[in-house]
Amino acid sequence: LIVEDYEIPIEDIVRRLKQLLINRVLVQLPNGLKRLYPKIRDFLSAHGIDSVLSLRPTWGICDLAIPEAKSLGIKVVLHIGHHAPPECRVDSVRVIFLTSTYIIDPSKLVYRIVKELMHRNMLSTGSRVGLTCTIQHCKYLSNIIRELKKLEIDPIVSRSNKNGMMLGQVLGCDYSAATSIQNEVDMFICVAGGRFHALGLAATVDVPVIGIDPYMKSYFNASKELRKIIAQRLFILSKAMDANTFGIVLCSKHGQLNLKLAETLKERLKSLGFDVYLLVVDEVTPERLDNIPWVEAFVSTACPRLAFEDLSFYRKPVLNPGEVKYIIRRDLSTYRLSDSLIYSPVIS
Ligand code: SF4
Repeated sequence: LIVEDYEIPIEDIVRRLKQLLINRVLVQLPNGLKRLYPKIRDFLSAHGIDSVLSLRPTWGICDLAIPEAKSLGIKVVLHIGHHAPPECRVDSVRVIFLTSTYIIDPSKLVYRIVKELMHRNMLSTGSRVGLTCTIQHCKYLSNIIRELKKLEIDPIVSRSNKNGMMLGQVLGCDYSAATSIQNEVDMFICVAGGRFHALGLAATVDVPVIGIDPYMKSYFNASKELRKIIAQRLFILSKAMDANTFGIVLCSKHGQLNLKLAETLKERLKSLGFDVYLLVVDEVTPERLDNIPWVEAFVSTACPRLAFEDLSFYRKPVLNPGEVKYIIRRDLSTYRLSDSLIYSPVIS
């Protein structure tokens, strides 16, 4: 099914739902794709399947609308727009995953940008370029490879070993498709909307990273931009060094709940004389943390992307678990931003 500028392979799913005798589903879409829902609803409805849209702002498959499905008595969640194994079961709810591919092939754009990088002497004939992308663009990887070869660039691609990941695909918390080849490449290109994935990649590898945005038809030097984020993190960590009372934040989302890690952090900080509270929330937001005035610094065990967002809305320092060791050592001289990304969502 083509909906606006996305291709969603929903036809096969309808057959699967019929096999399962399902006539009602809960549809989950990331915020940026919720606008596609009316056409999806009409398609399902034309095949005798009723649907409800979840308004949960899902950022990944770590964030499934299981509580909503259970409270509505719906047996199947259609989760659209993120990587995943085709199906999984959480409690009594079956989750069926559907990709969404941006239908505009970015390969010519990549060709044009790489040519420009060559003019700027950032790449040259024979350079080895690692290619990564988000799921919306994976389908075009072979076209991108072909365009790079025309420029006599040597493209290198790998795959994460996480179930359901496509060739070259990265997530905000999984860059293993890049780390496995970082010693073989001179530069990485990350084809993804916005800056987040390219910045995360730049924080993870020791090779220059260029982000290419197929929606804006533009590129940016992620490795250069990362320096600003590192400065911001160092400022936040230096403020956290004055804290005596910590709040360890647990997130109740299915794939972000890290109780064991939170308890380990609590015990470690307590053993060093800090006062520590365990807190749980469904989504980490400034408003929710503002309600806890007695805590002087938070450690979030939820999605690590928080460290890359604009934290100026948070009144207190918010650290990721990998950053706590710098507070314990009281030394930031060896700080690496990749410590903000040490986390892997639990998907069962
Ligand atoms: S935990 Fe990983 S998959 Fe989930 S929203 Fe964060 S970066 Fe994305």
